[in-house]
Amino acid sequence: MTLPVHTAEATPTHQPPGPTPARAHLLSDDTVAQYRQAVAAGTDRVARRMAEVTGPFTGVRPDELAPLVESIDLDRPLGDTTAALDELEEVYLRDAVWFHHPRYLAHLNCPVVIPALLGEAVLSAVNSSMDTWDQSAGGTLIERRLIEWTTDRIGLGPAADGVFTSGGTQSNLHALLLAREEALAGAGPTDRRVLLPQLRIIASAAGHFSVQKAAKLLGLAPDAVVVVETGPDRRMRPGAVRHEIARCRRAGLTVMAVVATAGTTDFGTIDPLDEIAEVCATAGVWLHVDAAYGCGLLVSPTRRHLLDGIERADSVTVDYHKSFFQPVSSSALVVRDRRTLRHATWHADYLNPARMVAQRIPNQVDKSLQTTRRFDALKLWLTLRVMGPDAVGELFDEVCDLAAQAWELVAADPRFEVLTRSQLSTVVFRWRPTGPGRELADPANLRAREALAASGLAVVAGTKVDGRQYLKFTVLNPATTAEDIAYVLDLIAEHAGRYVHEHADSPAADLTCPVG
Ligand SMILES: *Cc1c(COP(=O)(O)O)cnc(C)c1O
Repeated sequence: MTLPVHTAEATPTHQPPGPTPARAHLLSDDTVAQYRQAVAAGTDRVARRMAEVTGPFTGVRPDELAPLVESIDLDRPLGDTTAALDELEEVYLRDAVWFHHPRYLAHLNCPVVIPALLGEAVLSAVNSSMDTWDQSAGGTLIERRLIEWTTDRIGLGPAADGVFTSGGTQSNLHALLLAREEALAGAGPTDRRVLLPQLRIIASAAGHFSVQKAAKLLGLAPDAVVVVETGPDRRMRPGAVRHEIARCRRAGLTVMAVVATAGTTDFGTIDPLDEIAEVCATAGVWLHVDAAYGCGLLVSPTRRHLLDGIERADSVTVDYHKSFFQPVSSSALVVRDRRTLRHATWHADYLNPARMVAQRIPNQVDKSLQTTRRFDALKLWLTLRVMGPDAVGELFDEVCDLAAQAWELVAADPRFEVLTRSQLSTVVFRWRPTGPGRELADPANLRAREALAASGLAVVAGTKVDGRQYLKFTVLNPATTAEDIAYVLDLIAEHAGRYVHEHADSPAADLTCPVG
C-alpha cells in the first residue's frame, strides 16, 4: 500500500469564507470579537444582578426551581448568548446564594477579590494545564513561585515544596497519602498488607471530616482515625495526643500521622501547634496541619503569631479559597521535605518520562494527584501582584475583628448562649427559651435557621455540639457590620420564639415536619 503524497496541489486551496457555524463558537484568532462580547455580556449580567440583590438568598425551594431546570431541553440549543443568559437568570442567577452580601453568614465561603476574577478569566481562556511544561510553560514557574512564597510564609525551610490542589479535602488526602507511604517506607508487598490495617491517624474531635474520608480512600482500617476529645476551649490537647500515641504503640499499632487543625471549621480555634509539634517530633510521627481555614493568618498584619509552630509541620493544607478571598477552587498542599512528594509520582511515557527529569524540564504532575489541572495559581498571582499580601491580610483581620465583636454581642444578649470565642471568625451560639417550652430549644434553633434562609434576609449555619442544636455565624465578609449581626440575632429570636409559641403544647413536635 502506498501512502498518499502531500503536494501543494493536494492541499485544499479554497478555505471556507468564514468560520462554520460550529467553529464560530471555538475561541480562535477568528473569533476574538465574539469572545469579548460573550464574556462582557456575562460579566454585565452578574454585575447588574449584584447591584439589584437585596439579600443573600431568595429563599427559593428545590421544588420550585427543579421543574424549571427539568423543563430545559438540552438537545435544543438557544444558539444565542443573550437568550442563554436570559434563561440562566431564571434557573440560576436570580436565586443564587450571594457570598458578597453582608448577611451571608453561613459557611466558609468568602467574597472574592477582583484581581482573582481577572485571573479566572485569563486562566480559563488560555486553558493551560498544569501537569507538564509543554502544556503550561510559564504557568509551571508561576505555580512554583507561589508554592515557594507560601512555604516561606509558613517557614518550612529550604527543602519545602508542594502543589496546588482542588481544595482542602484533596490536600488532606494528599498529605495523608504521603504520611502513609512514609510510614510504610521499605515495606515489601507482604509487609504492607500486614501493616496497612495497623496504621492509625490521630485527629481532633473538632477536626475536619475529610480526614475520615481520606483514611477510607487510603485503604486504612475502619477504626484508623483515633479521635481525641478537645478541651473546653475546643483545641486539641497535646497531652492527649502524647497519650494516644503511647496507647497505640502499646497495642502494636503504628501512628502514621497526627492531624492538627489551624482553624477548626465550627469553632475557628487553632490547636496548640508548637506543643503538638513537640510531641510529634519526640515520637517521630508525621505532623499534618490542616490550615484550610486559618491560612489567612499567614498574611495577617496583626495575628500571624497565632500560627506559631506551624513551621514545624511535615505537611500543611492551605485553602486560598477560604481566607485569601479567592474564587473556588484554590488550595495547596505543601510539605517540609520535597522528597516525600515522590509518593505521588508515576512516569507515563506519553507525558512525563523519567528522561525529562534528567533534562531538568520542570513538571508539576509528578507531585500531583491530578493530571489535567487548572491553573488556579494565576488567581493568587494576580491578587498578590495587584493588591499584595498585606491587603489580603487586612481583609482577613477585619473579619476576625468583626467576629470578636459579634461574639461580644451574642454573649451580652440574654436571649442566647454562646460557646468558645473563636480565634478566627466564627461564632457558635444558640437561642434559649426562657419561659415554657424550654425542651423545644433544639427544634426552635433548627427551625429558626430554616425560616431565616427561607425569608432570604440572612443565611446562617447550624451545627451540633454535644448533641445539641447550635447556630453558627461564619464571618468572611468585611462588609458585614455589627448592625447586620444585631439585626440577624433579632430575626433568629423572633423565628425561634414563634416556633416555641406555636409548639409549646406539643412537646413531642416532630423534627421532620416543616415549620408552620
Ligand atoms: C473547608 C475545610 C476543609 C475542606 O476543604 P475544601 O476546600 O472544602 O475541600 C478541610 N479542613 C478544614 C479545617 C476546613 O475548614
